[in-house]
Amino acid sequence: MINTDLLHFIKNNHDSLLMVLDLIPKPIFIKDMDGMYLSCNTSFETFCGITREQLISRTVHDLWLPEQADIFHAKDNELLKNPGIQQYETDFTNPNGEEFVFQYHKVTFDDSAGKTAGLLGIIFDITETKQLEHSLSQLSKLDHLTQIPNRRAGFDRMKQVLDDSIRKNKQFSVAMIDIDRFKAFNDKYGHTAGDLVLKTLANEIKGLLRSNDILFRYGGEEFVICMPETSLEEITTFAERMRIEINSKIIETLDGNNLSCTLSVGISTFPEHGTSIKPLIDASDRAMYDAKNSGRDCIRIAQ
Ligand code: GH3
Ligand code: MG
Ligand code: MG
Repeated sequence: MINTDLLHFIKNNHDSLLMVLDLIPKPIFIKDMDGMYLSCNTSFETFCGITREQLISRTVHDLWLPEQADIFHAKDNELLKNPGIQQYETDFTNPNGEEFVFQYHKVTFDDSAGKTAGLLGIIFDITETKQLEHSLSQLSKLDHLTQIPNRRAGFDRMKQVLDDSIRKNKQFSVAMIDIDRFKAFNDKYGHTAGDLVLKTLANEIKGLLRSNDILFRYGGEEFVICMPETSLEEITTFAERMRIEINSKIIETLDGNNLSCTLSVGISTFPEHGTSIKPLIDASDRAMYDAKNSGRDCIRIAQ
């Protein structure tokens, strides 16, 4: 039968145990029921900057910043009350102020009477993985050409505005923008010049918005603006100002051409033209086609 009295084993075979634990290049610690360190491997010594001998009989509060130690202490108690396996991730600030994200895997062990006698934990530093995850998640939300949110991210943010508006019983308004005769523009000046126009316009429009307004690339040469807590009159006034500003903007290409373009804009508002995202976008889109049919370079409001 396997001897499950790990407490006894640790105390009587400490040196042999360390021969194994010291081979593992991840910090490992062992604590008793009072949260006092019974042992650790060399990787843990390096991790906390003190020797095994100094560590033994200390607690997390002797090692880490108080608020950090409180988290570890609470987590240990949670596990000891519900013995078994525990896994969690936590932000960690060391006493030098350096920030990390750690993943902890812990397991309880029993004494000879079968009662929980302590816990053993191993720490994985997942700071780089978390940073990479964050960068990838940010990248996946951006349109690579214009560096403004893409359609999926734009819809997610509009959904938040919709939820807020419903909760607070507020209006919000939406504008669909389409560049006029952009295909002919590309044909005449080339795709690179077209790209420069898209980038410049996105940047210019962004500069006209308030910080909580949303601008995203809906498709090729189409952009959507969503303005929280904004009436139809207010977004119409804004759209007219934007149309005039963009009209007068001269974009200079690398090969010396001075370009300018015009916009057709369709406008809708919540809740008059729709009570969810798709109908509001569709209403703006139809109004934008009205603007095209009215000769372009103008604004139309959804019917
Ligand atoms: P309208 O006034 O009716 O909107 O005419 P339009 O030519 O703008 O409309 P159409 O939908 O026929 O053409 C859109 C053009 O936008 C076609 C495509 O070449 C261009 N386009 C879409 N995405 C990009 C892009 O990322 N870069 C560049 N340079 N052009 C793009
Ligand atoms: Mg278009
Ligand atoms: Mg167009």
